[in-house]
Amino acid sequence: MSDDCIFCQIVAGEIPSHTVYEDDHVFAFLDVNPLAPGHTLVIPRDHHERLNDLPDDTADALYAAIHDLVPAAEAAVDAPASNVGFNNGEESGQEVPHVHGHVVPRFADDGGSPIHAVGGAAPDLDDDEMADIAEDIAAAQD
Ligand code: 5GP
Ligand code: ZN
Repeated sequence: MSDDCIFCQIVAGEIPSHTVYEDDHVFAFLDVNPLAPGHTLVIPRDHHERLNDLPDDTADALYAAIHDLVPAAEAAVDAPASNVGFNNGEESGQEVPHVHGHVVPRFADDGGSPIHAVGGAAPDLDDDEMADIAEDIAAAQD
């Protein structure tokens, strides 16, 4: 636990939350400033700042919980769709430095945007540049 982390304090029960799921690795609760009814945050119990900091078993458990919570959140608020995503690092907009997945139920004509809206100005990349980037990503994996 990180003493000054809001989400660690929520997992410890020191800050109240509307809890929707918990197991040995994962905790999930409603976002206090929801973008939609049913906006749910899914987090590891242990304090890790970024997705790539998660041990494999925690990452597996986190995705398994998201797999179940997406249809549950949609059903609870009668939403036909949802956006699911992580802000991963300060420059991406991550404000709470404890890994958390957002599940945001979506409705027809709700005025929101697709996840494509998160990027900055779109880069103009030719096919050779795309191939180089793909090669570098493939090579950078453990
Ligand atoms: P981020 O920008 O880091 O991806 O998102 C952090 C999210 O945590 C925000 O959507 C914010 O509303 C939510 N949040 C921040 N503090 C609290 C809190 O004390 N309780 C709950 N339930 N959500 C919080
Ligand atoms: Zn934490």
